[in-house]
Parts: sequence; structure tokens; C-alpha cells
Amino acid sequence: MFDYGISSPCVLSLEETATSTGSQNVALLRDPTPLPTRFLHPIWLVFVSTVLLGSACQSQPAPKRELGYKDSFRPVKKGEASQLPKTLKTSKMTWIAGHSVQGRPIEVQSYGESENCLLILATIHGNEFAGTPLMKKFAKVLKAQPELTRDWTLVIVPVVNPDGFAAKKRRNARGVDLNRNFPAGNYKSKGSKDKGPLSEPESQVIDGLLKKYKPQFILSFHQAANLLDYDGPGKELAERLAAVCPLKVSRMGARPGSLGSYAGIELKIPIITVELPGKASRMSEETLWKNYGGLLLEALKTR
Ligand SMILES: [Zn+2]
Repeated sequence: MFDYGISSPCVLSLEETATSTGSQNVALLRDPTPLPTRFLHPIWLVFVSTVLLGSACQSQPAPKRELGYKDSFRPVKKGEASQLPKTLKTSKMTWIAGHSVQGRPIEVQSYGESENCLLILATIHGNEFAGTPLMKKFAKVLKAQPELTRDWTLVIVPVVNPDGFAAKKRRNARGVDLNRNFPAGNYKSKGSKDKGPLSEPESQVIDGLLKKYKPQFILSFHQAANLLDYDGPGKELAERLAAVCPLKVSRMGARPGSLGSYAGIELKIPIITVELPGKASRMSEETLWKNYGGLLLEALKTR
């Protein structure tokens, strides 16, 4: 899926050239050709081309390591469980809650054994993926400090839109904006081809989690407005979270068919939209945690 290394044709040709150079070096020692002409000898041409080829390979910038969540892209096995577990009363687990349009698994992680559920979503817009490495780091912190989930069971979806994430596109593989695909009162049809709210498997997964586990509140990570927004009864929570991170509370307004409109306004679940800045896409897990980890830890202090 992702390109981590130097392309193999380049490596191969270098190996081949090195082998032929070794055998022809012996021939060069016995070569009776006059010295100036020797520089046109095939072995020199091979040598020069090897150096040029080598420098050409080195001059290419090293491929950038993608911010990946590789486990989310393991092949889908036939019959893989897509049912939600009946109860969250297990200390920690990961399961597949459904599949994307292109068949990628939508992984859900849970931590804690409390009755109180906090739902955290990242990368519902595939090109706003900084929340995903932040969740990866958060998972490590939760594993190291299980006491953090004493009062909460966290249900985390690190990549809501795995097809958009793979393609680095906002929408899912059918071109639907998942954050406009929820059955809110303000849902707006896109015309005759619109299949209506919850037409997409990815939004159905989120709706299933809402209905099954009835979270007390929701955090949803986006980019790149660099602010904290809330829908429904989330003002106090948003202000508390803003006090411990570089984001300020600012209302963007309820978007038609958004998760904020559905969960916050219809279902009355406080929902905080965490709009990380655009540059967060280039931040390491550690930097993301340094800047925004406090927000997550503060959320766990909610009573
Ligand atoms: Zn977004």
C-alpha cells in the first residue's frame, strides 16, 4: 500500500553492474590497448555509468514515510466479524466493526471497563488524518497507564474513512462526504443520485456505535481550522479542553447532515469537533501528543 523503500529496479541494476565489473577488472590488467584508448574501454564506461547511476539514485529525495495506520489495511478475511460486541466490559480489545466501500476493515479499539463510554473518532475525512497518529500514541499511553480509564471506557475508531485515508481524499470511495451523511434534521439531499442519510457503510458503523454504546460524549478529529467546535450541550467541555491545548473554542455552525448535527443536536450527546491545524499532518506522534495529548487526558477527567 505504501512506498517505504528505494525502488527495486535501481537496486537491481547496481547489483548487476557490480558483478560484471568484478570479472572485467582482471581483463583490464592484461589489456594491450594504448593508455588514452583504454579510457574508452567498456569497463570504464561501465564504471562511469555505475557512478552516475548511483549518484542519480542518491540524488532522488528519500521517499517520505507515510503516516500510516497499517493494521487497518490488512486484507479482509471472509466472514470476519462485523458485529459489535454486546458489552464493553472487557479490559481492552480491538475488533472490526464493519467494512468500507472498498472492503477495508474499520477497526475499533476499546479500553476500560466502565459503564461510561467516550467515543473518539479520527479521519472521517480521509485527507485530515493527523488524528490517526495521535490515536496511535494515545493507545500506547492507555496501555502503559490503564488507571486512566478507571472512570471511562474509551471506544476509539482510528480511521473512520479508510478508503479516503488510503487515497488522501476527503470523501469515501463513492465520493460521499461521510460527515454529511448522518440523519440529522438539517440533512440536505444532493439530488436524484443521493441515496439519503446513512447510505454509506462507514457512517453506518458510526451510527451503530452511537446506538449500541450510547456515549456520554464524543470527540471527532478533523483539520485544518485550528479550533475547537461543539454541537449540542458541549460548551463547558469545549472550554475546559481549550484551556489545556493550543486550540480556542470557535463555533463553525451546524453543517447539514454532519455528525455534529446528528449526535449533538438530534441525540443531545455533547460532541467536540477538534480541528487540528493543517501542519499537524506533518507532526510526529510525539509532537502531536505534546500539543494535544493534554486535551485527551483532560477529557478523561470529565465527571
Ligand atoms: Zn473535516
